[in-house]
Amino acid sequence: MHVIVLGGGVLGVASAWYLAKAGHEVTVIDRQDSVAQETSHANAGMISPGYSTPWAGPGVPLKAIGWMLQDLAPFMINFKELDPFTLSWMTKMLANCNTRSYQRNKGRMLRIAEYSRDCFVDLRKELNIDYDSRQQGTLQVFRKEKQIKDLQKDIKVLQDLGVEHQSLDMDGCVEFEPALAQVRHKFVGGLRLPGDETGDCFKFTCALAKECEKLGVNFLMKTEIQQLNEHNGKIVSVQTSRGMLAADSFLVALGSYSVQTLNTVGIKIPVYPIKGYSLTLPIEDESKAPMSTIMDETYKIAVTRFEDRIRVGGTAEIASYNMELNEKRRASVDFVVQDMFPGATDINKAEFWTGLRPMTPDSTPILGGTKFDNLFLNTGHGTLGWTMSLGSAKFVADVMSKRATEIDPEGLSMARYYG
Ligand SMILES: Cc1cc2nc3c(=O)[nH]c(=O)nc-3n(C[C@H](O)[C@H](O)[C@H](O)COP(=O)(O)OP(=O)(O)OC[C@H]3O[C@@H](n4cnc5c(N)ncnc54)[C@H](O)[C@@H]3O)c2cc1C
Repeated sequence: MHVIVLGGGVLGVASAWYLAKAGHEVTVIDRQDSVAQETSHANAGMISPGYSTPWAGPGVPLKAIGWMLQDLAPFMINFKELDPFTLSWMTKMLANCNTRSYQRNKGRMLRIAEYSRDCFVDLRKELNIDYDSRQQGTLQVFRKEKQIKDLQKDIKVLQDLGVEHQSLDMDGCVEFEPALAQVRHKFVGGLRLPGDETGDCFKFTCALAKECEKLGVNFLMKTEIQQLNEHNGKIVSVQTSRGMLAADSFLVALGSYSVQTLNTVGIKIPVYPIKGYSLTLPIEDESKAPMSTIMDETYKIAVTRFEDRIRVGGTAEIASYNMELNEKRRASVDFVVQDMFPGATDINKAEFWTGLRPMTPDSTPILGGTKFDNLFLNTGHGTLGWTMSLGSAKFVADVMSKRATEIDPEGLSMARYYG
């Protein structure tokens, strides 16, 4: 079967890998000149099943107001960009802000994320690819006792779902992250997720794309996707800036832009571009740098160690598809790395970046079939697209190959919005 994968981000490339392994002829189409140039380019670097938490939860609307009013706000709404699509997405997200939905969504996210982490382990056994990978867990740190109190319901869900975790006082945190010793007075404790991993998603995607090429995958870059064409209830081709391309099956992995392409054949999915920012900095003093990822829960910013660099990522902005590098938003990312790891790096050498998380209102990606027999989706991974990448891709490749999936498909397809 010839499959066209639309999108060469981490989800598209991972899908191409598993589809090619399943024996299909695969073509990947992307508008950029190489893979992982958009949201998969400079994310926070966490492969974190343990942090698979839906945005929408009980009490979140009130918390969100608090976050917007906070100094160095982790969340912001750009009111100039409030259009009907944004308002409709926000309404759907608010409808998920209750305990029942939260636990159901968290269960679904964890199901994919844990499977995905196992796929990472298998992939490392199969391929020798370098992506600054570390398997040292991640650590959430708290500045206020109240944050630790509020954590108890998340810990209960982790226990119920069998996710390994450790509650730590500051001695415990410093044991795993020695550089925190110099700032220990600013924090009250942490939660460690030993099963989590870290690395550079861009390096990973580029390396995996090279492996795909060895399996015969064709990458058609600098090619703008304009629309899908249907005939007699099937997708027959995709219209691109290089002309019309036909195939037997099509997989949409266009991140935040999946919405527009699917609209051309009357499919509506609630995926919204949630804007985030990151900095990448060279390490100046190893002894003051992190070992893995430390997530500052107060500012919702993650600091991740790559080999000789630090990636600092986070913040969430509702601003439609606006890609401006907003210097005001940079302040919190700048602050956290300097406050938590003073002397580790030189802020003047930072590369500032922004990306659009393809976010669903229930934080669960949309995987699998559509109303067209030969059109499939692998999109909507929001805050944890790299974490869920391999598991989602393997799952979708199995669905497309008409093989039994290794995880339960319950609640993963777009049918959950229309069931
Ligand atoms: C600040 C920030 C921090 C993050 N941190 C983490 C983290 O620590 N861990 C984690 O797991 N996830 C993280 N994420 C989320 C993760 O990066 C995303 O979920 C993931 O990269 C989405 O991948 P994708 O392949 O779906 O989308 P993309 O990487 O955006 O890929 C979509 C591709 O489609 C192409 N495309 C779009 N439209 C067209 C068109 N019309 N024609 C042709 N090509 C087109 C684009 O060029 C792009 O290459 C973070 C995101 C942000 C913004």
